[in-house]
Amino acid sequence: MTHPKEERTFVLVKPDGVMRGLVGEVLTRFEKRGLKIIALKMVWPTAEHINKHYPSHDEWFKSVGSRTKEFFDGKKINVNEHFGTDDVVEIGKQVKSWLADYLTAGPVVAMVIEGMHAISTVRKIVGHTYPIEALPGTIRGDYSVDTPSAANVEKRVVKNIVHASGNQEESSHEIEHWFSPEEIHDYKRAEEDIMF
Ligand code: UDP
Ligand code: MG
Repeated sequence: MTHPKEERTFVLVKPDGVMRGLVGEVLTRFEKRGLKIIALKMVWPTAEHINKHYPSHDEWFKSVGSRTKEFFDGKKINVNEHFGTDDVVEIGKQVKSWLADYLTAGPVVAMVIEGMHAISTVRKIVGHTYPIEALPGTIRGDYSVDTPSAANVEKRVVKNIVHASGNQEESSHEIEHWFSPEEIHDYKRAEEDIMF
């Protein structure tokens, strides 16, 4: 088992975050929490690279589509009217097709973050997928306000500044997809002996 303080996760500042000048702000929040940036680069990704970044199995389509449907149902908006279906797998596939448009609109900043339960800790700092639901104090909750009921009806994805791996399987795949082993660095941060 990996020691909890050595868990790794993958984060991307999406094109809206880069174009809004929020790269520094995003990095600062992870650094101040005591998480360590161990790889970092700017890339203008291709659509193919983005399509391989996100999973292509029904389980993932279902998880994305179900959340979309639940959100629309909660707002009493007819999901069928906007997606042409209420099949959650089909909805997930449509969302994925728009992700390539969003993430190739400009350069992104990719990074690997290491630290105490990094996957779940980073997700907490990032906040809810839908900025309108994200709590103040989180990155998405402090800097964005987009919502599926505006975005998905315009046939685009929700703009939410950052991507962060959702679980161990995603983090292993994403780190390998974006970085070669030589680009990932091992070093000690000064606070390590004091913080834990
Ligand atoms: N997304 C969207 N509408 C949805 C669900 C997702 O536009 O109903 C977009 C959004 O940009 C999100 C990305 O698809 O960040 C991937 O979805 P996921 O459920 O993995 O959310 P995340 O892990 O990014 O919070
Ligand atoms: Mg995700």
